[in-house]
Amino acid sequence: MREFEGRVALVTGGSRGIGRAVCEELAAAGATVAVIGRNGDAAAAAAKELPGSGHAGYACDVGDYDAATATLKQAEEDLGPIYTLVNNAGITRDTLLLRMKSEDWDEVINVNLKGAFNMTRAACRGLMKRREGSIVNVSSVVGLIGNAGQANYAASKAGLHGFTKSVARELAPRGVRCNAVAPGYIRTDMTSGLDQSVVEELQAHIPMERLGEPGDVASVIRFLAGPGARYITGQVITVDGGMVM
Ligand code: NAD
Repeated sequence: MREFEGRVALVTGGSRGIGRAVCEELAAAGATVAVIGRNGDAAAAAAKELPGSGHAGYACDVGDYDAATATLKQAEEDLGPIYTLVNNAGITRDTLLLRMKSEDWDEVINVNLKGAFNMTRAACRGLMKRREGSIVNVSSVVGLIGNAGQANYAASKAGLHGFTKSVARELAPRGVRCNAVAPGYIRTDMTSGLDQSVVEELQAHIPMERLGEPGDVASVIRFLAGPGARYITGQVITVDGGMVM
């Protein structure tokens, strides 16, 4: 089914990992995709490799309000009105609280939480005016249960849950939905540095006995963003092999 045929999707952090899998999934479903990344060349290269034509890559630090606004405007001028916004860009600066520097806190909150605000703020007027479309925020199970060494990251992701539900309430009467997916441990660059012993320990807590793949998350985002989820808003859906239930 090509349920995004003729629609434009904007995916932040779309040049690799989960974001890239989301771009592939939405493009395969017919969407024209604006791939946003910190590195413009990587974003453009990722856009070029997507199925179909008309996709474009843009360099943007989502934590910068003016840059986010300008990038969204440019993408809409180039590709057409945004129908789906996926706030996926995220970073970690893991360390125990006693060692956490103020910059470690600020950087993570700025990209993971304020970045979602910046892009959503830029997109919401158009979405509300057109009375259709949806937003999907990529959070983490860590935002639900916390994690030692990730106070900044967990706070940013828990913040995204409050943001998602507030935006959902605000935009629902205007025909726009907002949901979040909370992945467990997914094989990407973000988790590639984990020791084998840590991976084995993690797997022991996953009922499905494997780490996730980017495509496991992307298929849920496609569903949540699309017409099949037309009566779902304000939800946080865990995609974690049953780790948190
Ligand atoms: P990744 O590091 O492979 O990719 C992150 C992407 O975000 C990259 O494309 C990067 O360039 C982009 N990005 C980072 N800072 C940015 C900024 N300031 N502006 C624009 N783009 C920026 O990580 P991933 O594992 O694919 O993670 C994607 C999302 O999924 C993140 O929000 C992450 O927190 C979340 N997540 C990942 C896991 C996991 O196990 N991998 C688990 C739960 C949640």
